[in-house]
Amino acid sequence: MTSAPKSVEIAIIGAGVVGLASALRLAGEGREVLLIDPNEPGSGASFGNAGTIAEYACMPVGNPGVLRALPKLLLDPDSPFALRWATLFQLTPWLIRFIRQSLPEATRANALALAGLLAEALPAWGEMVQEAGLQDLMRRNGCLYVYRRHNDFAASAGGRALRAELGVHQQVLTADEVAALEPALADAATQGLYFPDSISVSDPKAVMARLAAAALARGVEFMRASATGLSADAGGVRLSGPGLAITAQKVVIAAGARSRPLAAQAGDRIPLDTERGYHLEFPTTATLLNRPVCPVDLGFYMTPMDGRLRVAGTVELGGLKAPPTPRRLALLDRGVRQFFPNLGQPSSQWLGFRPSLPDSRPVIGPSVKSPNVIYAFGHGHLGLTLAPLTARLIADVVHGKDNTLLSPFRSARF
Ligand SMILES: Cc1cc2nc3c(=O)[nH]c(=O)nc-3n(C[C@H](O)[C@H](O)[C@H](O)COP(=O)(O)OP(=O)(O)OC[C@H]3O[C@@H](n4cnc5c(N)ncnc54)[C@H](O)[C@@H]3O)c2cc1C
Repeated sequence: MTSAPKSVEIAIIGAGVVGLASALRLAGEGREVLLIDPNEPGSGASFGNAGTIAEYACMPVGNPGVLRALPKLLLDPDSPFALRWATLFQLTPWLIRFIRQSLPEATRANALALAGLLAEALPAWGEMVQEAGLQDLMRRNGCLYVYRRHNDFAASAGGRALRAELGVHQQVLTADEVAALEPALADAATQGLYFPDSISVSDPKAVMARLAAAALARGVEFMRASATGLSADAGGVRLSGPGLAITAQKVVIAAGARSRPLAAQAGDRIPLDTERGYHLEFPTTATLLNRPVCPVDLGFYMTPMDGRLRVAGTVELGGLKAPPTPRRLALLDRGVRQFFPNLGQPSSQWLGFRPSLPDSRPVIGPSVKSPNVIYAFGHGHLGLTLAPLTARLIADVVHGKDNTLLSPFRSARF
């Protein structure tokens, strides 16, 4: 005899930062929420990132500068933007879209769209910090780009002009000014670009644990399961999977880089893929840096975290299945030692999967074909930054409120 499916008001698939923030928000507004994930909450991409709340990062990944450099980048396995050639066939449709989105007009449209969200990112974080008691995990002293070569700084002129036009607070620094902020980089930079309003977290894993505890305290129910089947009609949504049978009035898909097959079952073909990224951690009690620092030519952040320096970033196109590429980890190791040659051996290494759309815009809002299914995925390089705002927007959708901010992020754009 099979038992009747469990019935809930809202089921959220995926307990990454986006799912956790959404669950917390909806439960705080009195909704009944079930959060479904086969893994520990926050143990996906949300665990291993660089920890920056990058309200300044409105420049999409695909842009004319990347497009010009793309052949060189993709052919060099040690570049910050690499391709696993064995996956080229599978990745070609995404790459073609990415190339189209890197043309000047599309880049500008994507930057404007992202800037609209990013302008609200810090206030939304402020609300979540209060709600989940995250105060002691937040660092409020900006983020810093450093340029080691004059031509890299010159090449960033377009991005700087666009950010200035969009109202991003940024300061060009001389080498001496960089050294004043970060004494360890006294001889490393020719120029810097400082984002003084930006904040960061001292430990993403601790943030995720705090969010999960706050959601639990608000009445969110957690279920360890994988949702593999989804069918929706005007009455609601049914979810199934091994050991899972749920009916929900609304379902939020927040399964990060694994959201595509679920959205397909809701009737939408969304070109979600992944940009793989890596981190290494070096235990240290010394204050090597005061804030997240990105050496722009190397494509990673060096972020001081509790008791360690985390080196996180770079992009590898190569899908979800292949194991970590040792060469990519070696690249981070070599890179950070150019600044800190005396670091010991890394204490941990990690490969994570950014959920990435070719236009660098997340997908937020109801499904075109199944309005009871709501999308909250595809945040690429900005999932930590945009999670609280996404949660606010998802709550608006659940309440049936229209929000013009959502227009550029609807799934109907594909
Ligand atoms: C190296 C690196 C550095 C980064 N640095 C930053 C940064 O500094 N700032 C920033 O804003 N962003 C950064 N990011 C990006 C950010 O980490 C991601 O955008 C964000 O974590 C995505 O969150 P998510 O909740 O969508 O996905 P995830 O955290 O991946 O969570 C998805 C969850 O869904 C679950 N799931 C998947 N399939 C199913 C299913 N079928 N059923 C149930 N559950 C399922 C998974 O188990 C997982 O727990 C970085 C990413 C990387 C890789």
